[in-house]
Amino acid sequence: MKKIFKAILIFNLSLLIINSVNAQFTNQDTLRGSNGPGRDWWDVVRYNITVNPDYIEKEIRGEVTIDFKTKATGKKVMQIDLQEPMVIDKVMFDGIEVEIKKDPRNVWQLTLLDIEPTMYIDKAEGGKGLTKKQYQTIQILFHGKPIEAKRPPWDGGWIFKKDAKERPWMSVACQGLGASVWYPCKDYQGDEPDQGASLTVNIPDSLTAVANGRLKDKRSKNGVTSWTWEVKNPINNYNIVPYIGKYVNWTETYIGEKGKLDCSYWVLDYNLEKAKEQFKQVPMMLKAFEHWFGPYPFYEDGYKLIEAPHLGMEHQSAVAYGNGFKNGYRSKDLSGSAAGWGLKWDFIIVHESGHEWFANNITTIDIADMWVHESFTNYSETLFTEYYYGKEAGSDYCIGTRKLITNDRPIIGPYGVNKEGSGDMYYKGGNMLHTIRHVINDDEKFRTILRGLNSKFYHSVVTTKQIESYMTKQSRKDLSKIFDQYLRTTMIPVLEYKFTGDNMYYRWTNCVEGFNMPVKLNGSGDDWLKATTEWKKVAVTADILKDGLKIDRNFYITVKRVQ
Ligand SMILES: [Zn+2]
Repeated sequence: MKKIFKAILIFNLSLLIINSVNAQFTNQDTLRGSNGPGRDWWDVVRYNITVNPDYIEKEIRGEVTIDFKTKATGKKVMQIDLQEPMVIDKVMFDGIEVEIKKDPRNVWQLTLLDIEPTMYIDKAEGGKGLTKKQYQTIQILFHGKPIEAKRPPWDGGWIFKKDAKERPWMSVACQGLGASVWYPCKDYQGDEPDQGASLTVNIPDSLTAVANGRLKDKRSKNGVTSWTWEVKNPINNYNIVPYIGKYVNWTETYIGEKGKLDCSYWVLDYNLEKAKEQFKQVPMMLKAFEHWFGPYPFYEDGYKLIEAPHLGMEHQSAVAYGNGFKNGYRSKDLSGSAAGWGLKWDFIIVHESGHEWFANNITTIDIADMWVHESFTNYSETLFTEYYYGKEAGSDYCIGTRKLITNDRPIIGPYGVNKEGSGDMYYKGGNMLHTIRHVINDDEKFRTILRGLNSKFYHSVVTTKQIESYMTKQSRKDLSKIFDQYLRTTMIPVLEYKFTGDNMYYRWTNCVEGFNMPVKLNGSGDDWLKATTEWKKVAVTADILKDGLKIDRNFYITVKRVQ
């Protein structure tokens, strides 16, 4: 409990939230969600995962080696996460079997003896960076029947399904729940493996296994084929997943901002023709997003789109696709716009690929800050629409999604306990960014900021504060109150106004202290109201007196006339 208090106070949430956090969360949540004593002394360099799935028994068995670096010496306790009912069978470190203690559930404490600090010297400290042998390795053997996903991708776990021809089809979806639902790891977003990961899947010869990055090795023996896939870039644990089934493949090369990008597509054999047609949207997506966000962040690992036994997920360089080869979100326009903008493109291709920039390139340390993934990616849908159909179309789409906002709780969740905030991180978060863009009032500057975020925080883990500060600094507008308002409260600001003679008085209410967002008047001019929480006076035209105050629709606010 002590640790929860500390974490929460650091991030300065209200007393009310602290109370509910204490009531709601356990020591287990803190172990999982924070950088505690079993985690903070070592840094993951690489995961090498091998898995043998048993489709009939719905069981998996495997081995993970974790390369790590540390400055620690001697005896240390290492926290490894693996969720019940999965079991760690044996751990080896330096040729010696390690003592394992389960504490209390889902967490395994390994006592490592004789740790030597690695020779690693940070580049910043004058070193040359990491070289090959300057890390240590533990080897973990594990097995069990992993939790099965009932409603993937919304819940998590392994998926043991049949395709339409009754043949085995397997994969994993584990965002939120975490990768420790199936393999032992440091299940903490703040520590990505700096040198990537490999995943080897051993399956019967009749099936194909696809995973993240590039195919590094494929070998067959006694009816079993071992497929080894590898990413060279840092990757989130939950993004490392296998796809196993009757896949067929085709490839193309996209010439992008960083040169040749290898694109590879994997779908079930009977969907090949439909997929070839639908996936023509991939180069369109890449073109639009490289324009807005900068180069695709993982040229070394390539881009893949893989048919999945669920709707979709942003698995890095192996994006999961399950939208039925149709446009929209399961054939629906989420914006409900009259022109049907959301039906002009495939939601899963656009949204899940958008995460390659926001979630996979820029990752939040704590999932409480998950808006950085979802709000920007939600806004990528608007930017895609705008790129191909014009600015008003993009705005129609963005504004149309406001009806999906619930304002049930703040977008930022409680810190340190592996807990997301409100689902409003999608549509409200997207509308917050749309509003901020209009406060900045310079589309080229806004685009430069989006691209700048992706280069400044390239392959990094971040906090909300870092994103806020960067955007404030680059835009030269103080956006802090806007972020506070939309991310940390459920209040939608109300612009109150009243008339006295030819004068209009206006102010912000239903807002955080000091809220001072400027808003633009509707119309072709460049007339702004610099409202604060105090009444301000301005002389107004006959039109406004007659029709009332109209604010540019791109600002997500409420306007209210009072007496
Ligand atoms: Zn998403």
